[in-house]
Amino acid sequence: MGFRILKKNKGARLGELKLGGYTIQTPAFVPVATKAAIKGLTAFDIEELAIQILIANTYHLNLRPGADVIEEFGGIQKFSGIDKPFMTDSGGFQAFSLGKGAILGRSKFEYEVENKPTKEASIAKINDEGVKFRSIYDKSEHILTPEKSMEIQHKIGANIIFALDECTPPSADYEETKQGMERTHRWAKECLSFHKKQNKNNQALFGIIQGGLFKELREESAKVITNMAFDGFGIGGSFGRNQMYETLGWLQPFLSKEKPVHLLGIGTIEDLINSIGYGMDTFDCVSPTMIGRAGYIHIRPESGGNKGNKYRIRITNAKFRNDPSPIDKNCDCKMCKRYSKGYLNHLFKAREFSAYVIASYHNLYYMINLMREIRKAIENNRFKELKEKWLG
Ligand SMILES: [Zn+2]
Repeated sequence: MGFRILKKNKGARLGELKLGGYTIQTPAFVPVATKAAIKGLTAFDIEELAIQILIANTYHLNLRPGADVIEEFGGIQKFSGIDKPFMTDSGGFQAFSLGKGAILGRSKFEYEVENKPTKEASIAKINDEGVKFRSIYDKSEHILTPEKSMEIQHKIGANIIFALDECTPPSADYEETKQGMERTHRWAKECLSFHKKQNKNNQALFGIIQGGLFKELREESAKVITNMAFDGFGIGGSFGRNQMYETLGWLQPFLSKEKPVHLLGIGTIEDLINSIGYGMDTFDCVSPTMIGRAGYIHIRPESGGNKGNKYRIRITNAKFRNDPSPIDKNCDCKMCKRYSKGYLNHLFKAREFSAYVIASYHNLYYMINLMREIRKAIENNRFKELKEKWLG
């Protein structure tokens, strides 16, 4: 893996990340392919959209179809037919959010937890060894340890893999957060030593900085993790918007020029643009396809998208029923060139599969295109102007 920063402007970094035979221009948006697929899209769509890198979910893939199956196919690219670099997470977040977080009702991604009865989740337990949980599919018992997380991610074979960390919720107090952070550091060390011994496929390993909402802990975690021999870093934790910016501000002095930084699971376009201003290089977010399936369509600022409306319209709204105008007249994706708001409104009402396909394709195009615009702005020293255009 190679990484270099080509340019900096107002805190934002323009970079180039080399992974195997692939080159990724950063800042880059990393769409979520939870089960080695982007919901509603095929590998052909992913190529057409020029998506640079995807993130798959270790927890789900290890339960279904199983990491061994993916290994037999020769890794996630060959298994999925998606010839793009992949990341996988450690599997810890789901084990926590579907387990511990679910019981306490304070998971970061509540929508993943909502429909799951808390009874089965209450089995999830964490100790220094790892996290014990029950499968959401067949309730079988599993334990995820640092070694196990590495082993599974080696089998899945993504280009970038993550060390196992403990995701303490924002409601955790200082002591609980400190304990979680220290456990994260011990696990980071174990992951690193196991990875060094077993890494046959030249996978890059990222360590995760934790420390919750406490400046002292965040700085300590940043020092400890950036001093370990990781190929890059992830910033973990769940926070409210202003808390996130404050945290990213604390971490800025610790960012390395030679190593990329991934912000795990951001929520909105506003967060994305702002966190680029804090030097973040890559981001994953499930939102474009998830909201797309719910009938939310991203619109550009020229079409009235702003912070207040979260840059989106609800296409199922009755006012669009007779609207012959393009989905977004200022988007040049193939769906917007072909389809009207009225037709897409009809597809959603009729529950046609193509509704989800069109919405997901457009929303991902929108994000990929926004990232292109951001990279161009950094290159031309116009990141501040871009922020003004998008954030007002
Ligand atoms: Zn479009």
